[in-house]
Amino acid sequence: MKIGFIGLGIMGKPMSKNLVKAGYDLVVFDHDVKKMDEVAAEGAAKGSSTADVAGQCEVIITMLPNSPHVRAVCLGEGGIAETAKAGTIVIDMSSIDPVESKSIGAELSKKGIEMMDAPVSGGEPKAIDGTLSVMVGGSKENFDKYYDLLMTVAGSVVYVGELGSGNVAKLANQVVVALNIAAVSEALTLAVKNGVDPELVYQAVRGGLAGSTVLDAKAPMMMAHNFKPGFRIELHIKDLANALNAAHATSTSLPLTSQVMEIMQALKNDGCAAEDHSAIVKYYEKISNVTVEK
Ligand code: NAD
Repeated sequence: MKIGFIGLGIMGKPMSKNLVKAGYDLVVFDHDVKKMDEVAAEGAAKGSSTADVAGQCEVIITMLPNSPHVRAVCLGEGGIAETAKAGTIVIDMSSIDPVESKSIGAELSKKGIEMMDAPVSGGEPKAIDGTLSVMVGGSKENFDKYYDLLMTVAGSVVYVGELGSGNVAKLANQVVVALNIAAVSEALTLAVKNGVDPELVYQAVRGGLAGSTVLDAKAPMMMAHNFKPGFRIELHIKDLANALNAAHATSTSLPLTSQVMEIMQALKNDGCAAEDHSAIVKYYEKISNVTVEK
């Protein structure tokens, strides 16, 4: 089984390397030749274009920034719809708008090409370790067929429903994380303004109901004023925009998500777009004229 891998960025590069290490026959493509060279050094073949990859692979994994990139690679000029054989499957592991996943999948199916959406959570360290969490939408039959392939890059692979469901799960994840970071920021600001050491508040609450993976990962970063990403604010803005779009497509109201989105937009204007999303605390510091830095 020949596998194509398109998009060798922060996530795609280590994921494709892990597939090669596991013995899969991989053909990779990215506009950035240096990234292709790096994966080729591990044993992958280099494709010359999306068309070249699509023409020779039965399975094509995509790991691209957002919906327009996936649409272009799948349905654009020289894209997968034009150049892949009927029976090919596209496994899109990018985090995109689920409305777009369904629409792109419907167009591909007209050419006999199937699609699954399989976005990931875990970030670069877990992409390197091969322990990502993968949430899969598509047919159950394809989920079963490609489970072992996905497990090569993952610690868990969960089936969530029809095409688009994987991205709905991913957006739900991103909503929980964004709101949780805002809540931690608000709580630490409250502590400092009322004369209590934020570190002691963190230690006091982390074992109780307020404890969370987000609290443990982000509170220490906020108190150290270390905003090296991690996960960049600009990527989280992309995810919240997709969440709001998917919500509005089904007349769902996301009042808290909208508010955190506006906080992130303000931070972008303050030059923080490339900082870790824990920099949400800077917004709170500004409006309350305080610093939570220890
Ligand atoms: P990235 O920007 O580092 O990589 C994207 C890659 O796609 C780049 O190398 C770019 O050259 C390539 N690319 C873009 N258009 C292309 C095209 N038409 N043909 C070929 N290559 C093309 O992004 P990333 O951080 O690897 O993220 C990829 C996806 O995974 C995003 O949807 C992101 O939201 C999601 N994600 C990222 C993280 C993270 O921590 N970085 C964590 C979980 C999920």
